[in-house]
Amino acid sequence: MKAAVVEEIAKPLVLHSNWPDPECGPDDAVIEVQANGICLTDYHIWMGGFPWVGIPTATPIVLGHEYAGVVQEVGSAVTRFRKGQRVAIPFNHSCGRCEQCQDGHQNVCSDVRFPMFHYTGGFGRYTKVARADVNLVPLPESISFLEAAAMGCRFMTSWHGVVDQAKIKAGEWVAVFGCGGIGLAAVDIATALGANVIAVSRTAAKLEMAKQLGAVATVTAGDDAVAQIVELTKGGAHVSIDALGDAPTVLPSLYCLRTRGRHLRLGVSSKEQGGVIPIPVDLFVFKELQLIGSLGMQAARYPAMLSMVESGKLHPGKLITGTVKIEEASGVLEQMGAFTGIGMTVITQW
Ligand SMILES: [Zn+2]
Ligand SMILES: [Zn+2]
Repeated sequence: MKAAVVEEIAKPLVLHSNWPDPECGPDDAVIEVQANGICLTDYHIWMGGFPWVGIPTATPIVLGHEYAGVVQEVGSAVTRFRKGQRVAIPFNHSCGRCEQCQDGHQNVCSDVRFPMFHYTGGFGRYTKVARADVNLVPLPESISFLEAAAMGCRFMTSWHGVVDQAKIKAGEWVAVFGCGGIGLAAVDIATALGANVIAVSRTAAKLEMAKQLGAVATVTAGDDAVAQIVELTKGGAHVSIDALGDAPTVLPSLYCLRTRGRHLRLGVSSKEQGGVIPIPVDLFVFKELQLIGSLGMQAARYPAMLSMVESGKLHPGKLITGTVKIEEASGVLEQMGAFTGIGMTVITQW
């Protein structure tokens, strides 16, 4: 199959026309990818992965985990899906049997499989999904592959964090730090829940996009961002979301909280930070703050999110700012480190 491959860390992807097709085990499905978003996580993996949490990048690797497509083949034990079916795919593929899966938290499965690390990702024409019956989601006809791809990582991660983890409520003030794909998704989702969203970014064009997605106010990142948020919210945000996760957003997103505020971490730190960033721990005691983590989303929660897309309350399609051919994916990846790209770029041709 055709695939763009990382052969060396942080070097241009190498295009192959005869990369091995994924093999379909009895519980698996092979998917013909129709659309694949290029995510910041792809960039991090291209740069060497996350060795500080035990996920280094071993080359060669085929990136891509934010995708949707058509079932090409199913294994003999798969009963819920068939060849030709349109599917959405969360990026964290669970076992369905461990303690966390049994408890409904398949996104933090103890035997999780990830596209890219365990099998080729969506930078290849075909990809595999392990234990297809628990990890594929039927995609309604009314939602395009492009929109479904846009939901495969950043949007669904945001939905799980905002809805299930931080449990954001109508009328709450929510400050979103970082307006890349995941931050803009958080603006859209928290707005749909009835929250008052303040978007924070250093880039005017990203703030403009946040406004179009429903942000009631925007703040330019910088020294007085916290003061502006405290003033706008008359005492601080009920919830802050760190949608970048790196050093520049960690402190202001904690300092802008009101007493008993909740802080949701959606972003991951960079190679420079290595997963350790100092935070003002005493603030958590004196203000009774809560720190909440969130990772991906379980397939079982997709229908709730998709129903909000179908009814027009959520707008993943608005986050898509460009489509490219697989030949152009390497160039997109190389530009991501500057964090200047707006919205999401999706591969639609192989
Ligand atoms: Zn499991
Ligand atoms: Zn991602």
